[in-house]
Amino acid sequence: MDRIRDPRAELEELVPYDAKDIRAEVMLASNEHPSNLPGEVIDWLAERLDRFSFNRYPDPLASDLRTLIAEANGLEPANVLIGNGGDEIIFDILLAWGGPGRKMLDMPPTFAMYAIDAQATGTEVVSIPRLADFSADADAVIERVSRGDIDVVMVANPNNPTGNLVSETLLIDILNATDALVLVDEAYFEFSRHTMRPHMERHPNLVILRTFSKAFSLAGMRVGCLLGHEDVVRELTKVRQPYSVNAFSQWVASKVFRERVVFQQGIRDLMRTRDTLLHGLAQMDGVEVFPSEANFVMFRVEQASALWRDLLHGHSVLIRDFTRTPGLEDCLRVTVGSDEEVDRFLVATREVLSARRESQLLTNGAASRASGEKEVGD
Ligand SMILES: *Cc1c(COP(=O)(O)O)cnc(C)c1O
Repeated sequence: MDRIRDPRAELEELVPYDAKDIRAEVMLASNEHPSNLPGEVIDWLAERLDRFSFNRYPDPLASDLRTLIAEANGLEPANVLIGNGGDEIIFDILLAWGGPGRKMLDMPPTFAMYAIDAQATGTEVVSIPRLADFSADADAVIERVSRGDIDVVMVANPNNPTGNLVSETLLIDILNATDALVLVDEAYFEFSRHTMRPHMERHPNLVILRTFSKAFSLAGMRVGCLLGHEDVVRELTKVRQPYSVNAFSQWVASKVFRERVVFQQGIRDLMRTRDTLLHGLAQMDGVEVFPSEANFVMFRVEQASALWRDLLHGHSVLIRDFTRTPGLEDCLRVTVGSDEEVDRFLVATREVLSARRESQLLTNGAASRASGEKEVGD
């Protein structure tokens, strides 16, 4: 044969998630922690590395880490599922609660993986767009879930990329209005400190997602977890890949979780740097900056794509361009990096914007001179 049979028709519409693997001196595009693991954690791992069993399959359910996370959250291990990043768990949820003939509700603009995984699993996406200030359209959401045909609801809280929380009242109203599985994605919990954990006992359809990728400096290890009713966890174990979380990642994440107090100061420092970043952006002419409960900040500026390019090519500063996302026209998102990184970003942005203003003045001046000359000529 000189051809390949077509894959599922649904894939034709699907564009791969483009986590642009561009390297720059200042990496502020992916909401990663600016620092590597603390030296003492790396030393501890290094001292034991020669005894690590690379040859054995991992514990499928990551019992050690699972037990630690259960204890810390006042739950049983059966209420916890460890995944290959939070992303794997989102996919597993759509495999189990989505699928052909089933519906997922989300509130765009939001985390793109929900809709991508929905499409990949043949799940219909029901989008209830956020309002102009990025708050959820509470009435529309409640009205829609009350019809009774939604199977799974995805709420990023705080929302990525807009940075805001939805009200706890709305989340409770959703939980009261539907028996759909409601995923409250708390990937940025360590920064926002807001959690729906206290509502789990009353609402068995509430599941919470957390990750080691943001506050715990482990984006490269791919570890996330779900907190939920044991029946939900059991269903998810039917669809998940049994060895999805590799043994090394389990080992490192367990150590990091045991040492989690060590990360608290770093988180507080990042929150102070976030204020510097918000303040710095707010002072720039023509920039509208949105408040944030997470380790990133979204802002709107004219010709945002050009700014994104100038920051990368002129200053080696990489941030995230959302200008092609509906509702986020002219919006960019910048991660809270180290003080030095945030400073480089602010200096570079100021420079690009002031150079832009100067060239606009020049063009306007030339244009008015040209039209003046023309009038004289006429
Ligand atoms: C980063 C993120 C995740 C999960 O990231 P992983 O690296 O796969 O753990 C989930 N949801 C949101 C909203 C995120 O921003």
